[in-house]
Amino acid sequence: MNLHQLQVFESQFDACDFQQSHVCATCWRPLVNRPDGEGWICQCTECKEETRGYVTRKYVDKRIEQSVAFARAARVALAPYVPFLQQEKRTEAQNISELGF
Ligand SMILES: [Zn+2]
Repeated sequence: MNLHQLQVFESQFDACDFQQSHVCATCWRPLVNRPDGEGWICQCTECKEETRGYVTRKYVDKRIEQSVAFARAARVALAPYVPFLQQEKRTEAQNISELGF
């Protein structure tokens, strides 16, 4: 997909509205609006001219939430086999003491 396949908005207001509810489909970074011909286009702040599409912020939030849940489950499942996952929770006083204060 090239830049011409990205959504073009007639008004800056519509582009701003879209920008606030969407992020880059490739890197999930925020979008910025810029004039494009007769309208406005949303472009990734990182991918710039290589922006390939958009996903909703709601989708990204859900994917991050799922990933955190998977990571927690994996941590529990792997703890018996991976020593550094078995570390005891330390108190604030223990951490400060180990730092030399
Ligand atoms: Zn991007």
